[in-house]
Amino acid sequence: MDCNRCDEEAIMHAAYSGAHLCADHFRESVEKRVRRRIRRDDLVPHDATPENPQTWVIGLSGGKDSVVLTQILHDTFAKDPRIELVGLTIHEGIDGYRDKSVEACVELSEELGIRHELVSYEEEFGVRMDDVVEDDPENMAPCAYCGVFRRDLLSNYATELEADLLLTGHNLDDEAQTALMNVLEGDVEQIAKHFDASLGPLSDREEQDEFVPRAKPLRDVPEKEVALYAHVNDLPAHITECPHASEAYRGEIQQLLYELEENHPGTRHSILSGYEELADIAAERYAGDNGADLQNCVECGSTTTREVCRKCSLLESLA
Ligand code: SF4
Ligand SMILES: [Zn+2]
Ligand SMILES: [Zn+2]
Repeated sequence: MDCNRCDEEAIMHAAYSGAHLCADHFRESVEKRVRRRIRRDDLVPHDATPENPQTWVIGLSGGKDSVVLTQILHDTFAKDPRIELVGLTIHEGIDGYRDKSVEACVELSEELGIRHELVSYEEEFGVRMDDVVEDDPENMAPCAYCGVFRRDLLSNYATELEADLLLTGHNLDDEAQTALMNVLEGDVEQIAKHFDASLGPLSDREEQDEFVPRAKPLRDVPEKEVALYAHVNDLPAHITECPHASEAYRGEIQQLLYELEENHPGTRHSILSGYEELADIAAERYAGDNGADLQNCVECGSTTTREVCRKCSLLESLA
């Protein structure tokens, strides 16, 4: 089958759009979607200037999503003095998994000439995920601990690096899954928070002084296309799955979405666009509730809704 836009052979077919694209046109189409998302989400503020540049911290795990995001942001902004990119990699302390992907992050950052920061649970908190899983004092899934530690590190380092924006490589499949999970859980306040934290145009979100805003400019691109983009560009992405991956419910939703997408191409796109509109409305409904009961953790000083933050209480029970 030929490419829809030239005479080259197509390397991919997207059932949701009907497109058949060759390698070059496929690349172009992915990049276009990411740049359009950056514009629509208003990520480059109008008052950004070369004298007053924005610092964008990218959560760089070394997996295909964050590697593709970093590459495209670099290609887009390398010559734009208003934006400075920093890659931030977190080492969880998982044997046989993270070491390789850290190498991928270092390699990519060197190749692109962007600043790279590496931080670890071990250095920051004195724990390694492999040991946490072994101890499991709270009888929880590994990702429940890991997520708390990661969020804490990301937001602390984003503050320390004076980030204006924290960008992550969530793709369309990830975001459609999260959207569906939030809807099925029936937690509208959570949906409102999701919007203010990471969706929608920056200018529409409720101000959150305490937190660096997040953005997910890859969320229009399906997971398979992100993987293909990494492959055709020969990017140093690392593919092994974490041995502690444990989000069983997400796995069920993922399976459900595969089937729906197969029978009704375009389902992920429609879930996400409908969800974003609803989340915007929910955010307005809950406006003003944000931050009302925030305080500083008595142990570490980070912003939390309790006296001792979740990270500190987990570390306490691990000690
Ligand atoms: S899969 Fe879970 S345990 Fe593994 S790195 Fe991700 S959040 Fe951490
Ligand atoms: Zn073509
Ligand atoms: Zn704390």
